[in-house]
Amino acid sequence: MPHQQPSDSSRTAAPAEGGNALEGARVCVAGLGVSGPPVARALLARGARVVVVDGRDDDTTRAVAAPLTEAGAEVVLGSTPLPEDCDLVVTSPGWRPDSPLLLRAAEAGVEVIGDVELAWRLRPADQVWLAITGTNGKTTTVRMLESILRADGRDALAVGNVGTPIVDAVLPDEDGHVHDVLAVELSSFQLHWSSSVRPHAAVVLNVAPDHLDWHGGLEPYARAKGRVFARGTVRVVNTADAWSARLAEEEGDPHTPVVGLRLDTPRAGELGVVEDLLVDRAFVDDPHGSAEELATLGDVRPAAPHNVANALAAAALARSVGVAPASVGAGLRAFVPEPHRIAHVASVAGVDYVDDSKATNPHAAAASLNSYASVVWIAGGLLKGAEVGELVAGAAARLRGAVLIGADRERVREALAEHAPHVPVVEVEGPEPDAPAGHTVMDAVVARAADLARDGDTVLLAPAAASMDMFTNYPERGRLFAEAVLRLR
Ligand code: ADP
Repeated sequence: MPHQQPSDSSRTAAPAEGGNALEGARVCVAGLGVSGPPVARALLARGARVVVVDGRDDDTTRAVAAPLTEAGAEVVLGSTPLPEDCDLVVTSPGWRPDSPLLLRAAEAGVEVIGDVELAWRLRPADQVWLAITGTNGKTTTVRMLESILRADGRDALAVGNVGTPIVDAVLPDEDGHVHDVLAVELSSFQLHWSSSVRPHAAVVLNVAPDHLDWHGGLEPYARAKGRVFARGTVRVVNTADAWSARLAEEEGDPHTPVVGLRLDTPRAGELGVVEDLLVDRAFVDDPHGSAEELATLGDVRPAAPHNVANALAAAALARSVGVAPASVGAGLRAFVPEPHRIAHVASVAGVDYVDDSKATNPHAAAASLNSYASVVWIAGGLLKGAEVGELVAGAAARLRGAVLIGADRERVREALAEHAPHVPVVEVEGPEPDAPAGHTVMDAVVARAADLARDGDTVLLAPAAASMDMFTNYPERGRLFAEAVLRLR
């Protein structure tokens, strides 16, 4: 397959379609969470009449709203009416489609979009988007891709859940500069609210049960992810994941190439691994007769199998815009992993302590449990409707013990009893009653885990669940774990 360059037609007119239609339009910004304020600012900058609505009316929300009022937005707090004469709603990705305001908009025939769709309409027409979605690995892959693009000398920026809000990345900064290429992380929520986004190339890394309560089931959740394969988009698929290939086939544009990723020898049209090399047999002149070396396994850190898959995905997207083979290895070596993703905290008394607090669903926890031979597993929290039986059955042989926390720990305990009855299980409800000042529930958790661990084991915080029942968020859960480990030392 020849190199896929962005088509000429996408590099002509500027600005992109839709950007000018906002002048004077009355636009409702639903939700003052992470995406709301930058969305409101971008709309104001385009001359829209903005009404910001949020059901909360506390000090934090008021503080977030104040500068928007000052900038000219109307702000409604404490209730969520659909503003009168509204032309468009830009919703926070967190709002469920059955939220009253969004239902009322649907009834009234008012278009509802998300922040990503808005950014797409506002971007310069020659800006190239490379998109990444999947249940797990998005942030890591987006960061790897940014690093590879930069190693190749491209003016690239990673956007999505980490870093710059996407609407800020499509508008000129203070110096009038806009990035040429965006590595875009897309959640299923954002894709649900995107209708015209057309990335140059996109990957669905994997699909496993998560956020089922929001989407109403696995099928609609997966289909939302499939929307990343738009008309004209080069389709990159993980051959080891049934949904990834299926979505490319059923949702994608049959006229664009499908590029497969695999952890062993690649076939023509794929990227894969040969001995200790990451190899490209897709974006080369003769995929049947030649291959390009992109990087070594040693360039991927940590070199756990799921992370090699992430690196191959980043490499494929980069190669789709003609990045040189050597830039892939250079970019992967320069990549700095995000915190709380298989982060080694310390070794204490021959035991490794690893913080994978970001493993907020069973699929992610399975990947990290598979990365270690003998594990004391710290698990539990909010399962968001997901099942853990399969996860526990798959990991049973590696488990030295388990320490359970959080609201849904009962369900993890039942799964352990059924699929891993030999594994000792300890439950921790809160901090030790006689704990010294400054100690948290994680000191109790780490102490119990240390009791269970033997020389050479790994104590792994990979809870398979969200954290909000006990902690502010997953970074806090990971931070408190790391602090407790360092106190243990
Ligand atoms: P996301 O942005 O999709 O949540 P992250 O890169 O932040 O992805 O990783 C989330 C969690 O998933 C981490 O616990 C990480 O160890 C795990 N993970 C990363 N990549 C993969 C993958 N390809 N398959 C399964 N799990 C993964």
